[in-house]
Amino acid sequence: MDDCIFCKIAAGEIPSTVVYENDRAIAIEDLNPQAPVHVLVMPKTHHANILDGVEADELAALVEAIGEVAKAKGLEERGFRVIANTGADAGQTVDHLHVHVLGGRELGEGLLA
Ligand code: AMP
Ligand code: ZN
Repeated sequence: MDDCIFCKIAAGEIPSTVVYENDRAIAIEDLNPQAPVHVLVMPKTHHANILDGVEADELAALVEAIGEVAKAKGLEERGFRVIANTGADAGQTVDHLHVHVLGGRELGEGLLA
């Protein structure tokens, strides 16, 4: 995808703060953090969202990256939240599959907190 900002980040064409990467996924600091830890984890290849033909090994790489982010950020003991906004009702603003990893504070019981 030529005009996809996250494809460009994954390719190193746009600067970002990389927290972790493996062969198929990359984790970067969110530009507009909503919690003390707010990291975006995404596959390196373009998929619009979680419904868009993601391969099993890409998903495995994504989950592995989430775990490595949790370790690197010290979230394993206290926990964290993983959110994948998908489509308009969820308010997805970047159409390249990504999950938000949020933590470092009490996030509240509601999913939207
Ligand atoms: P979503 O609303 O789920 O599509 O989330 C998009 C997220 O991407 C938002 O939290 C933005 O702050 C974040 N974001 C947008 N552009 C960048 C960027 N260049 N580097 C890091 N995070 C970004
Ligand atoms: Zn993309």
